[in-house]
Amino acid sequence: MTNAKRTAIITGAGQGIGRGIALRLAKDGLAVTINDLVRAQDAIEKTAEMIEKAGGTCRVTTGDVSRQADVDALVAGHVEAYRGLDVMVANAGIAETVHFMETTPEILDKTLAVNVKGVFNCYRAAAAQMIKQGQGGRLIAAGSVSAHKGGEWQSAYVASKFAVRGLNQTVALELAKYGITANIYSPGVVETPMWDSIDDVVTTFENKPKGSQFAKMLPNIALGRYAKPEDVAAVVSFLASEDSAYVTGQSIVVDGGIYFV
Ligand code: NAD
Repeated sequence: MTNAKRTAIITGAGQGIGRGIALRLAKDGLAVTINDLVRAQDAIEKTAEMIEKAGGTCRVTTGDVSRQADVDALVAGHVEAYRGLDVMVANAGIAETVHFMETTPEILDKTLAVNVKGVFNCYRAAAAQMIKQGQGGRLIAAGSVSAHKGGEWQSAYVASKFAVRGLNQTVALELAKYGITANIYSPGVVETPMWDSIDDVVTTFENKPKGSQFAKMLPNIALGRYAKPEDVAAVVSFLASEDSAYVTGQSIVVDGGIYFV
């Protein structure tokens, strides 16, 4: 039980953007439950340690967002501990970097399972609780500039992020009557392990120096620097807040000026 006024769940919070969002929402005063895969147990414990050191309130859980039972248990555990749920951040996602002609049906299935079904599971379980509470809520998910524009090497990923944007718009329409908003944050190039792996695959394939794919992105960014997880977390902080009450169905692009919606 906590005295914190509002509470949030953040998935995929063992590293990268999810960790940044968890730290930020905890700093904003929300009591958070953070999730990641079982294999990321150490990483998620590290995030919890960082939150607690900064004076935040945090619970740690493991589970796979593509499995409905895991997500239902995640929400149920959160509600039992904190007596309610105000914000769901469906952040967990994967990006397989591979040419379209080498993208197998298995890669597509796996990507859609985590990136789309994961958001679907999180939104449904959280919304059921928010409707029961009767006080509205905030559904938030990870989009990407890839939810707006195709990109080489990422057919499955791009398909999944377009799907998330479409799903989010429909959820926003259907749940508005409950005071529940649904928005996605759509980063460009963020310095996280996900981008390290994209760079690694492309440079290996093209026999180029490590880091060169990442470096290739810089001239396209108007603000002249890559994003840090904190840049994305600041936008999520707004979307999670009561100040965003009149914003729904949107994809907020957080890319330093690469892509204009
Ligand atoms: P990351 O790979 O650094 O971290 C993702 C985290 O999600 C990891 O801790 C991983 O263990 C966890 N995860 C993966 N599958 C999971 C599952 N099935 N269940 C629970 N947890 C799972 O990624 P990131 O860069 O921090 O990206 C976070 C989100 O932002 C993703 O949805 C990604 O698509 C999106 N995004 C990232 C960028 C970027 O430049 N890094 C750009 C646009 C969008």
